[in-house]
Amino acid sequence: MTDAGADLIHVDVMDGHFVPNITIGPGVVRALKPHSPLPFDVHLMIAPVDPFIPDFASAGADIVTVHAEAGPHLHRSLALIREQGCKAGVSLNPSTPAAAVAPVLDAVDLVLVMSVNPGFGGQSFIESQLDKLGALRRMIDGSGRDIALEIDGGINPETGRRAAKAGADILVAGTAAFAGGERAYAENILRLRGDA
Ligand code: ZN
Repeated sequence: MTDAGADLIHVDVMDGHFVPNITIGPGVVRALKPHSPLPFDVHLMIAPVDPFIPDFASAGADIVTVHAEAGPHLHRSLALIREQGCKAGVSLNPSTPAAAVAPVLDAVDLVLVMSVNPGFGGQSFIESQLDKLGALRRMIDGSGRDIALEIDGGINPETGRRAAKAGADILVAGTAAFAGGERAYAENILRLRGDA
């Protein structure tokens, strides 16, 4: 994916508790890190999250994103991420409103909208998240802050185009990026960018 033109390596961490699936931990992030010079964007779908933030930071995460729903002290989690020298992201499940981000805008570098219920790859895009993206775009622009707006879940060239139009500036793709095997990666990424 690095050679194929990706901008970031997005890593989905799931714990079998906050979401109904288990993926990887900091050891795998540490093992992957030397294989790409791209920023590692580590999406923690785990609860509790605070005890593990330092482990992912030291494993090589450049951006650590936590879920607004993962615990009672979101602002504390975001501050801990920045204390570890990483950029801080907040993610919202599909049922969480855009307004949940407003009180922590000064503590985030990235907002991640989940356009599927997190837990598994290969799910269909939830349309209502486009309105939420638009609301977040206006909130971020109105704040004058340098905050990236990312979308994750069911992204293909068609949903990606619509998400970008609604205000997303980072598209996360799994299935659409990996389809067809290694020789198709560059073409897949061009299609996601709308350049092919
Ligand atoms: Zn993700």
